[in-house]
Amino acid sequence: MAETFTFQAEIQQLLDILVHSLYTEREIFLRELISNASDALSRMQFEQLTNRDIVDPDAELAIRIKPDESAGTLTISDTGIGMTRDELVNNLGVIARSGAKAFLQKLKESSGSGAVLQDVIGQFGVGFYSVFMVADRVRVVSRSYLPGEQAYAWESSGGSTYTIEPAERDRRGTDVIVYLKDDAKEFLQTWKLKDIIRRHSDYIAFPIYVGDDQEATNRQVAIWRQDPKEIKPEQYDDFYKMLTLDWEPPLHRLHIRADVPLQFYALLYVPSSPERNILSPRKEPGLKLYARKVLIQEYTTDLLPEYLQFMQGVVDSEDLPLNVSRESVQANKIMVNLKKTLTGRVLADFKRLAQKNRDDYLKIYAAFGRFIKQGLAISPTDRADIEPLLFFNSTRSENPEQFFSLDEYLERRASNQDDIYYVMADDFYTASRSPHLDAFRQRGIEVLYFTDPVDSIMLMGLPDYKGHKLRNVDEADIDLRDVGELKDDTTPARDSLPEDTFKALRDRFAAVLGERVRDVRESKSLTNSAARLVSDENSAARNMYRVNRLLDREVELPVKLLELNPRHPLMHNLSHMIAQTPENSLIKLVIEQVFETALLQDGIHPDPAAMANRLTLLMEAATGTPAGELDYDTAEAPASEEPS
Ligand code: ADP
Repeated sequence: MAETFTFQAEIQQLLDILVHSLYTEREIFLRELISNASDALSRMQFEQLTNRDIVDPDAELAIRIKPDESAGTLTISDTGIGMTRDELVNNLGVIARSGAKAFLQKLKESSGSGAVLQDVIGQFGVGFYSVFMVADRVRVVSRSYLPGEQAYAWESSGGSTYTIEPAERDRRGTDVIVYLKDDAKEFLQTWKLKDIIRRHSDYIAFPIYVGDDQEATNRQVAIWRQDPKEIKPEQYDDFYKMLTLDWEPPLHRLHIRADVPLQFYALLYVPSSPERNILSPRKEPGLKLYARKVLIQEYTTDLLPEYLQFMQGVVDSEDLPLNVSRESVQANKIMVNLKKTLTGRVLADFKRLAQKNRDDYLKIYAAFGRFIKQGLAISPTDRADIEPLLFFNSTRSENPEQFFSLDEYLERRASNQDDIYYVMADDFYTASRSPHLDAFRQRGIEVLYFTDPVDSIMLMGLPDYKGHKLRNVDEADIDLRDVGELKDDTTPARDSLPEDTFKALRDRFAAVLGERVRDVRESKSLTNSAARLVSDENSAARNMYRVNRLLDREVELPVKLLELNPRHPLMHNLSHMIAQTPENSLIKLVIEQVFETALLQDGIHPDPAAMANRLTLLMEAATGTPAGELDYDTAEAPASEEPS
């Protein structure tokens, strides 16, 4: 007796779309069914390595495709693991793929327009259910490899229900019997089937026999075992697409065939972008691990270090014992060596690319640079291999697309220059306008821009490069007098304030800012800027504020030294005002704003929008409102607010 079941709502929706679809490339249903058969065979192959108690241990692992002209059916059979009754219900009645749900979501958003349907089906594939693009009815007869299990048949006409009933099948495996629609009878033609298989499924590792052929239609060579010279770029891209279902081509690929010290094949890709496509079947990070062509583990994260987990691809080892169980893969000594070798090869390959074709490398760096930089902090042993992969903007160029390596920086350094200087800021333009750069520009000393939030994490693993210390330009005691000569055209705009006048100014700043600054002092180096914040912390602690902020931890703003430029017109005006009208409420406003502007310029202002009220008041004053009439209370930004 057949029992009737109702499909999960999402499947009903999906079927409704597929049954009525006019998708022109519906031949992909065959690719999807063959791929399912191949998965079932891979899993069987794995079971055979570890499990002795199986039905039909000697059956050839293969896929058979049989058109039956008179019945109008196409049958796809495999000798894979098969399905029990419960597995039929769970696998073919409920959507397992998160992709299928997302697919429906996407369709809903675009209100099912034809063009999008075309795109989305081809792009993502919808697995087993795609068969309903060509079928009126589908019958799946399956027998599990587990001894003692009966064969069952699942059947549906693509409506809202399916049935399950006991069936006859003396051998292990699955038959998918496709009752072709009248307009899909072309899929009964043997030549057509072979053509589709060669185009879409040539690489499948198990033989695919069509009709009564004794010879497999597909070449069955795993692409990663082929000679790179014989593989066309499109084939590499196709394989990537099949693996990840990423519609965009990969940014880079690396095909390795190694003999010593380990024998293995690897085909690795740098994906098109760091965002994992929500529809991707790769649900977790990790590489596919094969041992002599047998799939051992779908997501293997022990083959590359943490910071290179963005890579996708397969690794096929000749040395791993075939009977390695999934649990013991991790502990295996060969795995440790594989990881070491692979990591070395990937980093060397990136280095070669960075030297030979910087533009291509910079695309990888733009997308994945932050992972690579983190490698310095989390894998200190790889430091020497990661350093050549680092690139930065600098004061050398006004073009944010122009990046320089650390070696290029060193080659250009001033004759007496020992250290490597960098400025930290939120972005290229903020960095290039940083007040800290005044002194360096005067002497023509190049400064690197560290504008990526992870740069502060990177610095934890990069205190120096080739023996040259990396120094933040906001360090309080950098003395450039011996490093480079002053350029001629840098005469200050005004004279310095006299000592006692400056002292009054300094004292007023200190009184207003209180604990928010460690001290206020005169700057020797500022030219164009009015003030800057410098840091006298030791270098290990100095970047922790940015690191913590990046990790979303609650952190107190670091307390720094405020340096004032005694030659700047603003400081001249302000000290004049302090002398003439010491009670003027504008004085406090200006001091607060000078301080917060300096925070902003360093990219560490905790709440820039809070300056808006004060800036409005200052503009009011600048356009004529007398200081006494300013509504002073509203000017208190939260950063400087005292608890009431
Ligand atoms: P996916 O293959 O992405 O998981 P499908 O909708 O194509 O999604 O298939 C759903 C599930 O049905 C598979 O995960 C698998 O467990 C099972 N299945 C499909 N075809 C076969 C088959 N030929 N042999 C064994 N199991 C199968």
